[in-house]
Amino acid sequence: MNYRGHLWGGFFAGAVSFFLGFCTQSFYFDFLFLKKIFESPDNFFAYQKGFLVFFTAWASSIFPDLDTSSLPQRWFFRILLLALICFLLLKKIEIFIFLSLLMFVFVIDKHRGWTHWKGTPWILVLIFVVFYDIFKNKSFSVERIFLLLKENWIFVFAVIFGHYFHLILDSRFLRRFSFLFKKLYR
Ligand SMILES: [Zn+2]
Repeated sequence: MNYRGHLWGGFFAGAVSFFLGFCTQSFYFDFLFLKKIFESPDNFFAYQKGFLVFFTAWASSIFPDLDTSSLPQRWFFRILLLALICFLLLKKIEIFIFLSLLMFVFVIDKHRGWTHWKGTPWILVLIFVVFYDIFKNKSFSVERIFLLLKENWIFVFAVIFGHYFHLILDSRFLRRFSFLFKKLYR
């Protein structure tokens, strides 16, 4: 599937994750949010977790195709380049090095290489929580990581579901029906 198909797929994955989080009361949400945020922008923070769940699933659904030349890839690298320049000017060298390394991971493999593995989202979640724990507590504890994963299960779901939904859209089975939505496959 092309990037346009995955952008829409990302919205679907985001909506499913958001709906699940809403039904399980993983975050606060009500349908007056636009009115409330408009009244006072500070109200945004009451809703931010819900938005973040949606965005996480959407981004996970786009992420695998950052390994190939496309509109999202170009924007991703443009924003990353800007961020690199900012961090260099601010002399935040650790973040600068981290982002520089990140730029390489998308080009070390062929298209539909490691970014399209079924294990990738699990590994990414694990790397993220381990780094988060070390960064926040300056040490690393397995119990804390389990707790972190348990408390934020909706984000774990959003990452895994977003990524797997990308793989489903790329699958050979769905490609058989590509004649039905040609614009999303070409
Ligand atoms: Zn793909």
